[in-house]
Amino acid sequence: MTKEDSNYERLVQTQSINEIDTHDISLRPKKISEFIGQPQVQKNLSTFIAAAETRKEAMDHVLLFGPPGLGKTTLAQIISFELGVGIRSTSGPIINKAGDLAALLTNLKPKDVLFIDEIHRLSPNIEEILYPAMEDLQLDLIIGEGPSARTIKIDLPPFTLVGATTRSGLLTTPLRDRFGIQIRMEFYNPNDLVQILLKLAEKLNVNLKKNGAYEIARRSRGTPRVAGRLLRRVRDILSVSKTNIIDNKFADNALSQLDVDKSGLDTIDRKYLKIIIEKYNGGPVGLDTLSATLSEQKDMIEEVIEPYLLQRGLIQRSSRGRFVSASGWRHLGLNPPKNAEEQIDLTNFS
Ligand code: ADP
Repeated sequence: MTKEDSNYERLVQTQSINEIDTHDISLRPKKISEFIGQPQVQKNLSTFIAAAETRKEAMDHVLLFGPPGLGKTTLAQIISFELGVGIRSTSGPIINKAGDLAALLTNLKPKDVLFIDEIHRLSPNIEEILYPAMEDLQLDLIIGEGPSARTIKIDLPPFTLVGATTRSGLLTTPLRDRFGIQIRMEFYNPNDLVQILLKLAEKLNVNLKKNGAYEIARRSRGTPRVAGRLLRRVRDILSVSKTNIIDNKFADNALSQLDVDKSGLDTIDRKYLKIIIEKYNGGPVGLDTLSATLSEQKDMIEEVIEPYLLQRGLIQRSSRGRFVSASGWRHLGLNPPKNAEEQIDLTNFS
């Protein structure tokens, strides 16, 4: 079982939770000027968009990489909106047959955007079809089987492929090399998240004070998707309370009630730290053992629980296994033993 087919859902998870997150499509920023944060990304994209418009050509293919929830899909939509062209969206694991990709490509209008999320999960035979399509605007399809099989070539309209990946290391070199524009997304700082939250609150018609926005931002794991989700849940609590303003105190209480602590850790994160400390004296402990003790899938631990704990410097991963750093011990209010490595908190959120 993978995380795609499990029901694993956490308020603070950076991956999309379908039922909760899908209704926000209309609230996404549409123009590059509405996209908050990531100044380098904004600057570069604006230049490439303007250049494509001046040349009256399709924009070069774009690869966006970075952790989930940072705005890759949003940027793909912004690119199509700013270029004034259509967008078709799909995802690597959904494209099973050559025909699926052929149908998508042949239905594009000139200069349209084709967005492929999780592009690192395309199967190798589909990737092969994509190469000539990206490079020469040609589709080479094999029709039929056995001795009667033949290849047909179809010319494609000029198009822009926007690929998004959370695992750039898993992308093959030939595929990566075919993207003329490669953009790395970073985690957001609290001030940018505050701006994102205030904008979203306006759209949702919620009275959110700046100090309330900051309280939510610092617990949002540097991720707009988490910020938006936390705001919605705090708004739910607001709607059954006596007040109609979200200030820092209200946000603090609501988020504590939702079990998201001051650093954005939830019950599962704390359970993970606690188990390593209590059962393995802070580690190191191997992934298999940890998976059995926590009753969690290994990929869930690696892809959902650990990235943020690592980013905050609360744990360390080594060839001998995982161990809790001194900051991890302190986070649970415990005194770290002398051998617990001191970690630098990269995000500087609290
Ligand atoms: P990804 O594709 O990287 O997983 P999305 O583009 O789906 O992320 O963004 C997740 C959510 O965060 C969306 O609701 C989107 O509107 C919001 N979001 C992401 N980046 C920004 C931003 N820079 N400004 C405002 N909202 C953003």
